[in-house]
Amino acid sequence: MEDSQLSGNINQQPTQKPVILGAGQRISDQDYKAAIADLAYADQLLQDPSPENTDNTAPVSTVTLIKEVANSLLKWTKTGFNAVTEEIYHIRIAACKTCPHFVNPPHDKGLLYKIAGADVHHKSTCNLCGCVIKTKARLPHDTCPDADANKPGFNRWGELVPYK
Ligand code: SF4
Repeated sequence: MEDSQLSGNINQQPTQKPVILGAGQRISDQDYKAAIADLAYADQLLQDPSPENTDNTAPVSTVTLIKEVANSLLKWTKTGFNAVTEEIYHIRIAACKTCPHFVNPPHDKGLLYKIAGADVHHKSTCNLCGCVIKTKARLPHDTCPDADANKPGFNRWGELVPYK
């Protein structure tokens, strides 16, 4: 993924419906519902057993991804659509860029990821949670799902792993 594709400020992202997860902080209820509807629609398209959609090897299923995105959007509404500071954002992005889980979106879910604002031709997603990193790294309620093997109790973003 190019640096320019990771460095977009969430406040500068266009708010048109197709760029669901890149929407501005002040996304309206109407846009929020449209985003969810678009993801559901994309999911239906991706269920079509066309030759392009036969790769089922991706670790995160489309249904799981839809739920993850919907849950994340819901949590984001509860934070008042806040974003992390630029400093935290860049720390998170730097960690992802060196992570083996930072990958191109799965080929069979290209449309879904495109709708979610991912660069489908470059590394732009996490293959553990299925999230689009440039968006995930902006969200205060979101965090890295993988533990840092060299730093017990912390994840790859250098953040404390929540106690369960
Ligand atoms: S969120 Fe964590 S596990 Fe996923 S790509 Fe980034 S550093 Fe790796």
